[in-house]
Amino acid sequence: MDFAISEKMQTILGMINEFVDNELIPMEPEFMAKPARSLLPAIEEKRKMVRQMELWAPNHPQEYGGMGLDLIDHALVSEALGRSPLGHFVFGCQAPDAGNIEILHQFGTVEQKEKYLQPLVDGKIRSCFSMTEVELPGSNPVMMDTTAVKDGDDYVINGQKWYTSSADGAAFAIVMAVTNPDAGPYLQASMILVPTDAPGFNLVRNIPVMGHAGEDYFSHGEILYQNCRVPQKNLLGQEGHGFAIAQERLGPGRIHHCMRWIGICNRAFDLMVARARDRIIAPNRKLATKQIIQSWIAECAADIQAARLMVLHAAWMIEKIGKKEARNEISLIKFVVANTMQKVIDRALQVHGGLGMTDDTVLAFFYRHERAARIYDGADEVHKVSVAKRILRSYEGKKVR
Ligand SMILES: Cc1cc2nc3c(=O)[nH]c(=O)nc-3n(C[C@H](O)[C@H](O)[C@H](O)COP(=O)(O)OP(=O)(O)OC[C@H]3O[C@@H](n4cnc5c(N)ncnc54)[C@H](O)[C@@H]3O)c2cc1C
Repeated sequence: MDFAISEKMQTILGMINEFVDNELIPMEPEFMAKPARSLLPAIEEKRKMVRQMELWAPNHPQEYGGMGLDLIDHALVSEALGRSPLGHFVFGCQAPDAGNIEILHQFGTVEQKEKYLQPLVDGKIRSCFSMTEVELPGSNPVMMDTTAVKDGDDYVINGQKWYTSSADGAAFAIVMAVTNPDAGPYLQASMILVPTDAPGFNLVRNIPVMGHAGEDYFSHGEILYQNCRVPQKNLLGQEGHGFAIAQERLGPGRIHHCMRWIGICNRAFDLMVARARDRIIAPNRKLATKQIIQSWIAECAADIQAARLMVLHAAWMIEKIGKKEARNEISLIKFVVANTMQKVIDRALQVHGGLGMTDDTVLAFFYRHERAARIYDGADEVHKVSVAKRILRSYEGKKVR
């Protein structure tokens, strides 16, 4: 077992951490106070700097202009970028584009790659992923009402989706819709590329999440597909293979989130320790002298370390033996890291007292926006149940003394 980080990666991580500290963290007060769209020119400037440093799209394939880092190196990069809510977007490796890039790379036709994949990796356009429906359980997506019916050379799509993250301003959506209603439950749906200017693609609203509707990349859309017509050549992969492709997307998608969440833990932890060291709570007494705060610091340090090692191990498993074989590890990190993050943010916020509730630090932003980590890409309970079932099965016929 070798925990050493290569010299090349140490250099890259040094550059990224410096960039996050000097270029992104100073932008955060404006980011939290102003409409997101007004910041896009400034963000584009930062993206230019990242491209000049040759650090653009760290996890995306080299043949399309990314750095082509493997999952373990990307875990380290993502941890550094996760310290700021702007990190992944400025470096061109943000969700949901990252997942969409992976499936376009794996399943796209030559024409789809040229039209959608290349400009996506280049950061010239954005995309979204439209699977969850308003009326049906996202936790059991085989229950799906959205349909795509063939008509001439087209598909005609009808349905109501929500939580289509970053739909506002996206160039296209990857939509899950039922194309084969008579097939078995896992073979009914397909993925279809839908340009957002296609007739019948209606962004109804950006959903207010914890009081903030957001806009542009930083938003979650509700979409009404009303006789939305796209050519059949926009089918991604094979018809009826939507769930199989979704599995390909969700495995790495989940670990990408976990890597970013470790960065959030680290940032919240730094803020917590710094505040405890600085805050005077009695004459000549700092908050850090209180044992209960010391206990939180030690517990959070241990929790973050454990979560981080689990994420790196899951990345290693995926690299060495594949996503399918690593599905237990992926499910474990999904709920462990989401809960660790929630606990660390909460404690950091508590240590900041009233200040923690304001937007004068990034903690309240994290608190609002990262609660969803325990819900999206598989709620905690769903991952726990599926891991437990596999563990229970693995004990079948086993003699335990
Ligand atoms: C911020 C955010 C961003 C999102 N982005 C996207 C996106 O880009 N694209 C997209 O398509 N979707 C997205 N989603 C939707 C997300 O995937 C769903 O919210 C999620 O799958 C849960 O589905 P649901 O909301 O319908 O909850 P339900 O399926 O109704 O589940 C509700 C709760 O029931 C419990 N539960 C469910 N199943 C079980 C079970 N088997 N055993 C025990 N308990 C269970 C869990 O506690 C769960 O939270 C996003 C959601 C959020 C909050």
